[in-house]
Amino acid sequence: MESTNFIEDIIESELAEGKVKKIVTRFPPEPNGYLHVGHAKSLAINFGIKKKYNGECNLRFDDTNPTKEDVEYVNSIKEDIKWLGFTWDRELYASDYFDQMYEFAVKLIKDGKAYVCDMSAEEITKNRGTLTEPGIESPSRNRTVEENLRLFEGMKNGEFKDGEKVLRAKIDMASPNINMRDPIIYRVLRATHHRTGDKWCIYPMYDFAHPISDCIEGITHSICTLEFEDHRPLYDWVKYNCGFGDNPRQIEFARLGLTRTIMSKRYLKRLVDTGVVDGWDDPRMPTLSGMRERGYPAEALLDFCDRIGVAKSNSMVEAALLEHCVRENLNANATRVMVVKEPLKMNVVNLKAPIVVKVENNPTKEDAGEHEVTLTPTIYIEKSDFSIDPPPKYHRLKPDGMVRLKGAYIVKYLSHETDENGNVTAVNCEYVEDSMSGGANAGIKVKGVLHWAPSDAEDVVINDYDYLLDDVEDGRDFGERLNPVTKTVYHGKAEPFLKNAAAYDRFQFMRLGYYMKNKKGEYNLIVGLKDSYKG
Ligand code: ATP
Ligand code: MG
Repeated sequence: MESTNFIEDIIESELAEGKVKKIVTRFPPEPNGYLHVGHAKSLAINFGIKKKYNGECNLRFDDTNPTKEDVEYVNSIKEDIKWLGFTWDRELYASDYFDQMYEFAVKLIKDGKAYVCDMSAEEITKNRGTLTEPGIESPSRNRTVEENLRLFEGMKNGEFKDGEKVLRAKIDMASPNINMRDPIIYRVLRATHHRTGDKWCIYPMYDFAHPISDCIEGITHSICTLEFEDHRPLYDWVKYNCGFGDNPRQIEFARLGLTRTIMSKRYLKRLVDTGVVDGWDDPRMPTLSGMRERGYPAEALLDFCDRIGVAKSNSMVEAALLEHCVRENLNANATRVMVVKEPLKMNVVNLKAPIVVKVENNPTKEDAGEHEVTLTPTIYIEKSDFSIDPPPKYHRLKPDGMVRLKGAYIVKYLSHETDENGNVTAVNCEYVEDSMSGGANAGIKVKGVLHWAPSDAEDVVINDYDYLLDDVEDGRDFGERLNPVTKTVYHGKAEPFLKNAAAYDRFQFMRLGYYMKNKKGEYNLIVGLKDSYKG
């Protein structure tokens, strides 16, 4: 039997009791930014339910806030969802229902359940009361239905300034739930909407628009994050008072938080606007497009969502777990290649002609095969793989030492060259005859195996990345937690095999990490080789 989470348990009991037949969910992003990995969790839940119960899932843009929204965001959101491999049944917009929402508001007024209020949003907040004190009723609360209808129409027709009047639900100013103390459901706002243009100068509030959109679409389960738990009574109030039945049902789950990064679109936008990163899809961003440009496989993200599960209390998930999922996927799938990040010349002085050797493509896959690389009399090794003043237990090349060149010979130190500042500019070695795998001298004990690149290596730009935030979670604003250096660029040498790589191809650079070729032809560090996830 497949395991279920608590949301699926609810659905299964409702199906068993006949309370619902076809399950319909929705993913409701506000197009005010790019999707991030938290959204992947919400997508995995909603589309997971669609799949499991043979239901449907709508993509609905919650576009009721025209000053913050844009088509650029609509398009990126669609692209990101497709990248994760999900297919929505209908593409819908809350703004498609503005006419109906207006009519529902009129109905509430007629039923004596809504009134036009003259107070400003600030005054309303001030008079809302506290957890221990009831709110103060607005002087506008007892307006007649006729007056309310006239004023609301006036709001729609542009007779009032922005913020001059609002429409409020008439519920209960003494309710223990502050959200029920006559919440605002419509406001006057002159802003051009990316879909409805200048047709409207009043816009519905989220708490009014969301349940109505869900009801109109026949959503059965409206799944949202925990901070909306206190809004559920209002969700139900709107639903019933607009004449709908028991469905949809709102169910809340815990928001995903990830260490070493931030996840709110508002903050991510700040990083983009202040130039800390190069855009929403910068590889350092926790956005889905950032992760795609970084090289995270979509399957690894879905695997991550699966492993963290669906909980009812908020918690932080370690970035290391996400990386663990990415690394596991890449270990199984990425071709191994040799790339030198900081090249140092090595002359193999007794090698008179180039010879072709072979490197395994992926030792975890039986049929992955191997590819050729030419050992030339001059090669490149990693600067950090040779030391004239080695620390203890240094197993790489040192004066009078020996190392194996990956896939090729054992080489023995002869001498090295330096510039006028004493920096090493080349190291001279000789190879040991018959020391290739299978040869008579292959058994000579050497501790270090170095990756290398031949003299016809390709020049490559390598971008290494670090976390956006430091690792001290002490409640400081993220602006104070920003890592000073999050990107380091190297000019390396890649074995010629990589010349055939296409954009978005992923590799393991042996001993360095996993890298993806980006759109510009540079290589981005996806994740290092070492796993820091402690289970
Ligand atoms: P943000 O605070 O990052 O702007 P949001 O909740 O305002 O996020 P929406 O576009 O309104 O973003 O969210 C679309 C859906 O994704 C909602 O159902 C929301 O609850 C869910 N969601 C957003 N962030 C997370 C998260 N960190 N973990 C899980 N689900 C999330
Ligand atoms: Mg939001």
